Amino acid sequence: MENNHVSVLEIDLNAIDLNLQFFKSKLNTTTNILVVVKAFGYGTSAIEIATYLESKVAYFAVAYVDEGIALRNAGIKTPILVLHPQKANIEKILYYNLEPNIYSINLLTAFIEKAAALNIKNYPIHIKFNTGLNRLGFVEKDISEITTIINTQTALKVVSVFSHIAASEDLNERSFTLQQIATFKTLSSKLISKLPNTPFKHMLNTSGIINYAEEAQFDMVRLGIGLLGFGNEAKQTKNLKNVLTLKSVISQIHTIKKGETVGYNRAFKANSTLKTATIPIGHADGISRQLGNGKGFVYINNTKAPIVGNVCMDMIMVNITEIDCIEGDEVLVYKNQSHIEELAAEIHTIPYEILTAISQRIRRLLKKC
Ligand SMILES: *Cc1c(COP(=O)(O)O)cnc(C)c1O
Repeated sequence: MENNHVSVLEIDLNAIDLNLQFFKSKLNTTTNILVVVKAFGYGTSAIEIATYLESKVAYFAVAYVDEGIALRNAGIKTPILVLHPQKANIEKILYYNLEPNIYSINLLTAFIEKAAALNIKNYPIHIKFNTGLNRLGFVEKDISEITTIINTQTALKVVSVFSHIAASEDLNERSFTLQQIATFKTLSSKLISKLPNTPFKHMLNTSGIINYAEEAQFDMVRLGIGLLGFGNEAKQTKNLKNVLTLKSVISQIHTIKKGETVGYNRAFKANSTLKTATIPIGHADGISRQLGNGKGFVYINNTKAPIVGNVCMDMIMVNITEIDCIEGDEVLVYKNQSHIEELAAEIHTIPYEILTAISQRIRRLLKKC
């Protein structure tokens, strides 16, 4: 489908480069970088970002198999770790040369069965330990079973061992995180001592790199939202460049008289005359309905214009009474990181959710100057 939508998400590739440099500067020169491009690259454009970064990073990761297939179909040759594969798509993983996170005995044995049947040898897999997040992964008591299984087959080879931190951004949880790191060191050594080869290790996401580079960078880190300019804390975000700007235009301006209402369910009632602008972006584009009725705001002419009434599926109306603007003028729906952080806080969520909600209907425009 051709996309002529006037609402467009601009993605600044130079800013991505600078953010990558920032994280590299926190790491040893030998530490590899994996870039996480799950969920359409956090709502940006996974294929374009992966294509742009392919020569600069060691690995990509996606959550699901289909996301990895999309990258392969776009010509990406870099190794791709699939963070959450399922038994139902093992054949696809093998066919598209994707590398699974193996997190359970159930998945391990199913994977070996399928790979062996295809006469595959030394297929790269990644073993995940659960060190406290309690989401996916093996625990200590699984190690002897894993090694027995791995050491009696030739279809698979463990190329990495990894874990994931539960609260890497929260320094109040520092002692818990250090405990997770210690557990990972113990479990990975125990496993690796029984394997025929020495897999590499990785544990840190964006906030992990910021807060635990010294304790836990191991051989690779997994960088996601940081690349897009978010440090999960205003102080850290300040060091990062803004990558994303969500732009739209004013479709129509209305004068609303005292007593009139605006939008569905007549949720807004004017108690004095005001001017509103209608913007072609709504909850189907990822503008949360929670941002309605003055909670959210856009920028027009560098001035905040709050959302008036409910967010519609395809539109919002904003208050421009005090703003000098005309139909066709530019609207910054998401101006920069701090705007997104402010909106997220307003509706009790995090920038991750705001970004990944930006729907596929919005045009993506990659900029490199
Ligand atoms: C999403 C994810 C990451 C990246 O996290 P960021 O906070 O975006 O850097 C890293 N590792 C795993 C296992 C993930 O699921």
